[in-house]
Amino acid sequence: MDRTFVMVKPDGVQRGLVGEIIGRLERKGLKLVAARLERLPEERVDRHYAEHLEKPFYPGLKRYIMSGPCLLMVVEGKDAARTVRTLTGATDPLEAAPGTIRGDFGLEIGRNVIHAADSPESAAREMGIHFPDGVVEYHRIDEPVLYE
Ligand code: UDP
Ligand code: MG
Repeated sequence: MDRTFVMVKPDGVQRGLVGEIIGRLERKGLKLVAARLERLPEERVDRHYAEHLEKPFYPGLKRYIMSGPCLLMVVEGKDAARTVRTLTGATDPLEAAPGTIRGDFGLEIGRNVIHAADSPESAAREMGIHFPDGVVEYHRIDEPVLYE
C-alpha cells in the first residue's frame, strides 16, 4: 500500500483547520500512520522545498512556513500521493475546485493551507526528510470494506 507526505501549513493550524483536514483524509479511507506538530527549522524547510530555492517567491514562502507550527503527517492508502493531491486541489486556491481543501478554505496562493507531495517519488523524498525513523504500522478495522 502507498504512503504519502501531507502537511497542514501554519495558516491552517492557526485557523483551527487541523481537525477538519485530518477528518477529510480519514473519511476518504486514508490511514494516518505518522503525525507531528512542529515548528520547522530553516534547514529542513530548504531541503523540503529544494526545487523552489531559486524562485522569486521562495523568501516569502519560507517566512510563511516558518511563521508557526505545521502539522506533519504520513497517510497510507490506494494511490496515496494522487489521492491526497486530488483532495488538496490546485496550488492557487482561487483555481482549486470547490470540495477540495484549498478550494474550500483558501484565498491566496501564498496562504494555501496545506502541502501534499506531488508524486510517489516526492512522497518518498519528503517522508525521508521529515520522518526518517519511519511510521507506525497497524491495520485499520475498516480495511476489508474499503478495498475490493
Ligand atoms: N507558492 C507561492 N507563490 C507562487 C507559487 C507557489 O507562494 O507563485 C507557494 C505555495 O504555498 C505553494 C508552494 O509555494 O503551495 C509550493 O509551490 P508548488 O508549485 O510546488 O505548489 P504545490 O505543490 O504546493 O501545489
Ligand atoms: Mg509542489
